[in-house]
Amino acid sequence: MLDLLLTNGLVVTPSGARRLDIGIAGGTIVSLTAPEFGNPAEARRTIDLRGQLVVPGGVDPHVHTNSVLPTAAESGIMCFGPDRVSEGAIYGGTTTLVDFAHWQPGDELSQSFARKSAEWAGSSFTDYALHGTFKEPEIPFEVLEQIPDAVAAGHGSYKVWMTNTTPTRPRQKTDLGNMWGLMEQTAAAGAMLAVHAEDDDIVMYSYKRLERAGQTGLEYMSHAHNNLSEKLSFQRAITLAEHVGAPIYLMHVSAREGVDAIRDARGRGLPVYGEVLPHYAHFTAEDYRQENGAIYHTYPSLKSADDRDSMWDALLEGVLSTLATDGVCTDLDVKTRGKTIFDATGGHAGVEMRMAVAYTEGVSKRGLDLTRFVDLTSANAAKILGLYPRKGAIAIGSDADLAVLDTTDARRVTASDLHEADYTPWEGYEVAAWPSMTVLRGQVVVEDRELKTGPLGVLQEQRVSSDVRSRPAC
Ligand SMILES: [Zn+2]
Ligand SMILES: [Zn+2]
Repeated sequence: MLDLLLTNGLVVTPSGARRLDIGIAGGTIVSLTAPEFGNPAEARRTIDLRGQLVVPGGVDPHVHTNSVLPTAAESGIMCFGPDRVSEGAIYGGTTTLVDFAHWQPGDELSQSFARKSAEWAGSSFTDYALHGTFKEPEIPFEVLEQIPDAVAAGHGSYKVWMTNTTPTRPRQKTDLGNMWGLMEQTAAAGAMLAVHAEDDDIVMYSYKRLERAGQTGLEYMSHAHNNLSEKLSFQRAITLAEHVGAPIYLMHVSAREGVDAIRDARGRGLPVYGEVLPHYAHFTAEDYRQENGAIYHTYPSLKSADDRDSMWDALLEGVLSTLATDGVCTDLDVKTRGKTIFDATGGHAGVEMRMAVAYTEGVSKRGLDLTRFVDLTSANAAKILGLYPRKGAIAIGSDADLAVLDTTDARRVTASDLHEADYTPWEGYEVAAWPSMTVLRGQVVVEDRELKTGPLGVLQEQRVSSDVRSRPAC
């Protein structure tokens, strides 16, 4: 007896899209049958999807929760927590989120993971995993040496910053030598290292120069976080990774120079992966001039139309691997409190819109095929972060994490349709598909735009495959 049978969906599997009935038992997919072969097993509940699109639940590899906003450190203002962010995610068809567990001086590495997992446990509507994160100039050898045990325990990804981002923030940059040591450990232990790559010298000098010229408005953000910084930092990160033999995941690629560096590295067979934020692939630095222009901002920065277009070319070509949000969810008053290049709040509310925007911009406007749509929204992030094929695939034995998208429900989106924040940077945006149902490990969590369960999310182990670690596998 099946727990759930979903019939008549257009189902995107790793081998393509076709009409299939999906049988689910014990939280996993146990049968995929073409309707013409009839007679699916009996099920406790059967739902006729009437031709709607069924894809693996989204995997967003880059969200932040409950973090004190760096430029609001004195006031202690934090972005929303796992409850709110995961609620938006599950409404939007995303079933796995990856957040950050910050190592603090004095911590055993396992304590950093335990502290952040405790914030998610019992309050998340999606499953979740954690990047182990370092925000210190130096990482003690004793801590680096704990990485193999943490990886063995299922913590298979880490993140490091190459810049302090703005002159006014608490420091977060790890120096290149310590990053080398970290990379040696992650590579040897079989983990992925995510990098926030910006050239700190170029960024900090640019701030000084802009301040002297009186050019501190938001519209100068791309002059501070500029193309030269992306070029130099991506080249350095890739050179280091090549020297060590480490796989790396370059977060929030924002410029043509970043795309070119990744294309070149992958052309040489290196396991280098790049992430794009949907709004980097849509908005440009011109949008900083709009009223409340801060709502479009995420660090490094929006850039030119040419840079934006390079993102989509690279996504279609297979040079860039994932669409992530860099979600930092706040309400509008918090998001817009910083009005200059020194104090703008990075990240944004976009988790709920990610799948619909990717479908609209990719499949609907640019002819992206459905398998590749799944790669960009789910499968590749699951592969790069060691969650595949439990996550990111509609296949026998995979978790029954599913997003049902209604491609006849084109609509203009407004913030009140959404559950993350009181604003959306996608206000008025016309989507070509809208999520109508989300299933997490066989449980229908959202149906008819209503939550049907409590928070069911659990922490996921990450084990990155040797294929992903040794070549540009996705
Ligand atoms: Zn970052
Ligand atoms: Zn981030």
